[in-house]
Amino acid sequence: MLTEESFGEAGMSDDRCPHIERCELFPTLRLGTSLGYCLETYCYGDHSRCARFRFVQREGKRPPEGLLPNGALDE
Ligand code: SF4
Repeated sequence: MLTEESFGEAGMSDDRCPHIERCELFPTLRLGTSLGYCLETYCYGDHSRCARFRFVQREGKRPPEGLLPNGALDE
């Protein structure tokens, strides 16, 4: 189960986003939707640019469910 606390434990050992295992959006991105480009751009690329990643870093808690990596809100 995902907890608010688990989001504060971000390891930075490789280029993959350290939140992949607990990000609620990541499974959806892997389905090949129109947001699939986010995998290479953010999750396996520069995750420091991802709005979800940045939210967790800034707020220390789970990002809004509809927050997309590009900063848009999917409501
Ligand atoms: S969507 Fe953002 S926070 Fe989620 S796994 Fe990808 S880069 Fe990390």
